[in-house]
Amino acid sequence: MTEHKEVVIIGSGPAGLTAAIYTARANLEPLVIEGEPSSTSDQPGGQLMLTTDVENYPGFPSGIMGPELMSNFRAQAERFGAELLTKKVTRVNLHTSPFEVWVGDPSSNEPTFTAESIIVSTGAKALMLNLPKEIELVGHGISTCATCDGFFFKDQEIAVVGGGDSAIEEAMFLSRFASKVTIIHRRDQLRASKIMQDRAFANPKIKFLWNHQVTEYIGDTKLEGVKVQNVTHQTESTLGISGLFIAIGHTPNTSIFEGQLSLHENGYIKTESDSSRTNIDGVFACGDVQDFTYRQAITAAGSGCMAAIDAERWLEEQHAG
Ligand code: NAP
Repeated sequence: MTEHKEVVIIGSGPAGLTAAIYTARANLEPLVIEGEPSSTSDQPGGQLMLTTDVENYPGFPSGIMGPELMSNFRAQAERFGAELLTKKVTRVNLHTSPFEVWVGDPSSNEPTFTAESIIVSTGAKALMLNLPKEIELVGHGISTCATCDGFFFKDQEIAVVGGGDSAIEEAMFLSRFASKVTIIHRRDQLRASKIMQDRAFANPKIKFLWNHQVTEYIGDTKLEGVKVQNVTHQTESTLGISGLFIAIGHTPNTSIFEGQLSLHENGYIKTESDSSRTNIDGVFACGDVQDFTYRQAITAAGSGCMAAIDAERWLEEQHAG
């Protein structure tokens, strides 16, 4: 039986759960379809579920663990009546009114839910090297966010993997804390813009390991080093580092919206400026799924608030009209 909802929120990171708090407090009884754990690296709650200490989220002067922060977000949303469903959305139809949402079998004729409005907050995933022990070591030496974790590596030797603008930006930021930052790149030329390259070359703390790739993580409970291989000569060596920042790109979780929502070339959802509105009236997007610039929990939460207010006002207009 198809159930009808005023607001369906897809995704349960800081953006989705903030949207849930605001829409719940506006008496819109939101349903949050929060995702479903399919592996240790893929679970409801977004990227903070893979983070240890969060020290830059305002309001927590002594810091807070990522999973605990997300559990607080959930509890706050539930307190105001948001309903959370631990399932993955498998299909949406945004070309009809009300919108249709499927969880489970996408070929079923009956959608699981219909919705007056939808808030998309499915986030983005940092691309990983997919080596053994990687997931276990995230938050224990392996990171995908220098802004979040750089501070923990004061006066230590660390490395960054990648050769694009993100890798250089992360390395520049990390050089404020670390004693040495090695950029491990699989080619002998950077993809990053010339200006970023020049800055990195001029930074005395940044060194380059060209034509190398990481083949193994050393350390069981925390990262103690990496094995690297020269891709030209296949020779192996070891790099003793306490931190490795993987900066090889991100991918937004937008596959179920392809062909319906307007996406940027890089796959992120297009929203109107200063708004969470998408190309489809009544569908709003917030958080990392539409943000490839800031990518912070606090900016995601802020945009979740915007999406909730946009959805609330839009629903009001519909009911008035
Ligand atoms: P990117 O430009 O796609 O670069 C990814 C880098 O990671 C490339 O150097 C690539 O190597 C390397 N890589 C990919 N897969 C790898 C693997 N499995 N193992 C080892 N290395 C791998 O991604 P990005 O740096 O995140 O940037 C994304 C976009 O955002 C770009 O358009 C960028 O210009 C923009 N951006 C801009 C700024 C800024 O202007 N301040 C900052 C950040 C990002 P190859 O080079 O060999 O392919």
